[in-house]
Amino acid sequence: MKLDILAIGAHPDDVELGCGATIAKEVSNGKKVGIIDLTRGELGTRGTAETRDVEASKSAEILGVHSRVNMKFADGFFVNDKIHQLEIIKMIRYYKPELVICNAIDDRHIDHGKGSQLVSDACFLSGLIKIETRLDGGLNQEPWRPKAVYHYIQWKDIEPDVVVDVTGFISKKMESVLAYETQFYDPKSEEPETPISSKNFTDSIAYRARNLGRLVGVEHAEGYTVERYAAVDSLFDLK
Ligand SMILES: [Zn+2]
Repeated sequence: MKLDILAIGAHPDDVELGCGATIAKEVSNGKKVGIIDLTRGELGTRGTAETRDVEASKSAEILGVHSRVNMKFADGFFVNDKIHQLEIIKMIRYYKPELVICNAIDDRHIDHGKGSQLVSDACFLSGLIKIETRLDGGLNQEPWRPKAVYHYIQWKDIEPDVVVDVTGFISKKMESVLAYETQFYDPKSEEPETPISSKNFTDSIAYRARNLGRLVGVEHAEGYTVERYAAVDSLFDLK
C-alpha cells in the first residue's frame, strides 16, 4: 500500500501528541496516512500493553488513518542497530511514503530521541539498493527513500524549523489523544500519577498548538524540526 505520510512514534500516543492535528488535516485533504508504533508502551506506569492496543486502534479510527501497525520492539530498551533498522526499512519499502514524520530529536523519555534517530537512519538506508530486504518472506523489496523526514515536538520545548497551520483540527487531535484513557488526566483514575497524567500536561498540548498558532497568525499550529532546509518555490508560498 502506497502512503503519502508515514507517522512513526516510539509509543502508541506519541504520534497523536506530536502531530495528531497535522494527520487529521492531511487525511481530510485526501492524503493516505499510516502510523507505526515502535513499541506497545508496555513499560508505561498506567494501563497495560493490551489497554494501549485497544486505545491505539480507537485513536486510529478517530484520525481516519489508513493503517496502524506495531513493531513490538522492547519499550525502553530497543536500540538503533542493524536489526531494528532493517525492520523499519522493510516497512518504509512496503509503504513507500512521500514523507516520514517521527519522534522529537531530543526529549525527556529516552525512547523518543532514540526512536527519532533509528527512523531517520532507516529512511536513509532504505534508499540504498545493496541493502536487500524481504517482507514476511515475500519478494525482494525495491529501495525507497522518503522525500523528507520531519520530527515533531514532544515533552521538551524544541524550537520548530517549520510549523503547520492546523486550525480547525485541534479538537480532532485532542479527541485522538484522549482516546488513551489510561494515560492522561482522569480525576477518577486510581492508578499512580505520572508526568503526563496531570491536567497541566493535557492543557499544555492544546496550548502549545495555540501558542505556535499565535506566533504565525493562525489559531492553531504544530511545529517540526527538519533534516535539511525547508525549500519553497516562492516566498509568497509561505503564510
Ligand atoms: Zn512516548
